[in-house]
Amino acid sequence: MESTSADSSAYKLPPEILEYQELAKRLVREELLPLEQEYLAHSGHAYGVKETINLKAVFKKDVVDRLIKISRDTGLWYMMVPEKFGGSGLSMLAQVVVLEQFMYTPVPFPFANVPNILYECKGAQIERFLKPVIEGEKTTCFAQTEANAGSDPGGMMQTRAVKDGKHWVLNGTKMWISMAAESDIMMVQAVTDAEKRQRGGITMFLVDRHAPGVQVEEPGLRTWLGAKSSQYIVRFENCRVPEENVIGEVGKGFSFGQKWLTIHDRLLRGPYCLGKMQRALDMSVDWAKQRVTFGKPISERQAIQWRLVDMYIDIMALRSMTYEMAARADTGEDIRAEAALVKLTSTEWGTRCLDSAIQIHGAMGESLELPLTLFYRYVRHAQIGGGTSEIQRVLIARKLLGK
Ligand SMILES: Cc1cc2nc3c(=O)[nH]c(=O)nc-3n(C[C@H](O)[C@H](O)[C@H](O)COP(=O)(O)OP(=O)(O)OC[C@H]3O[C@@H](n4cnc5c(N)ncnc54)[C@H](O)[C@@H]3O)c2cc1C
Repeated sequence: MESTSADSSAYKLPPEILEYQELAKRLVREELLPLEQEYLAHSGHAYGVKETINLKAVFKKDVVDRLIKISRDTGLWYMMVPEKFGGSGLSMLAQVVVLEQFMYTPVPFPFANVPNILYECKGAQIERFLKPVIEGEKTTCFAQTEANAGSDPGGMMQTRAVKDGKHWVLNGTKMWISMAAESDIMMVQAVTDAEKRQRGGITMFLVDRHAPGVQVEEPGLRTWLGAKSSQYIVRFENCRVPEENVIGEVGKGFSFGQKWLTIHDRLLRGPYCLGKMQRALDMSVDWAKQRVTFGKPISERQAIQWRLVDMYIDIMALRSMTYEMAARADTGEDIRAEAALVKLTSTEWGTRCLDSAIQIHGAMGESLELPLTLFYRYVRHAQIGGGTSEIQRVLIARKLLGK
């Protein structure tokens, strides 16, 4: 299915991006796809957990070490790290193109997955927090949501931080926090000015996961995303956080959260879904050609052809939109509404695309030996996590109406 893959967009991609795209594609084919069956059969993988941790939960050390070495030797490890912090400084467009390739399989490729919030680190924070995350020695989680503050965290957040000498004292409970138990550093939002709230009254703190007063409830929340939980309730009880652990300025924490969500949970949902959708289409075409019913391959039936065509349309439209929005981000444009558009379409179209692939495969579509149901659950989840489809529509409407 070469003609429907991302290569067919090559006419508009610069040669250096095409080289990275080819490299990622080769690594998927040669290194990751051969590991896929073992990955799918293992119950250790979990949703929302960073790539290296996920790999370590499933594969032996030599396999993980080999992938990390490849990632470092090729420079892909640093692909999302800005040049000023020693990274390759790939453009957003290049990152999107490369990630799309890696999302063709659920087997993760390890790289420095650094939340952009951490690039706000100043002075000593760079050595303490940012560098260990870039090198993969420490991991982070993002703690915004609470039981009653999901879509409206700015208005409903209850976690408070009160200044006491050279410390801030945190109290409150976060919920649904991915990777809280596995992380070393928690990026926690708390209300520091109840009047201002999201307009200057929410601050972000870098909290040591093992600090006194931090309690992660284990074994975590059970969801349909995997046998192993990776979302947790986190309680802060009189947790004293040194004032030098505030990231950025006091009161600016809400906008850092939005910055993280805009890129990580919205724009990058484009490649996240595209890779899976392309795999679903490739698998569906192959399956439809070889599965025979009533004397003919099912690919001869118009009902099946139309599903394939609809999947193809979704992929082509989404790829154009995602690359366009990534290129706009590279010009410095404010892409909050555009990233919402990518998130909305990638997750809704991705869900229907995976649904079609499962249907075309019949009973095999439900087999856990294929990646389709896992992809389906991940893509369907993404209509909720990181801001629901409805909230993305709210953000887009605001832009349309000039609000
Ligand atoms: C697997 C998983 C991982 C997650 N990881 C993290 C994490 O790492 N860190 C973190 O902070 N959070 C995390 N979350 C939380 C996630 O971001 C929230 O669940 C999400 O934003 C939705 O919030 P909610 O569940 O409270 O839904 P609600 O806000 O209660 O919404 C319920 C329904 O009402 C709709 N709705 C709400 N407001 C409006 C409106 N104004 N107009 C129209 N419809 C509306 C919503 O779209 C939704 O359909 C995770 C959640 C899951 C399930």
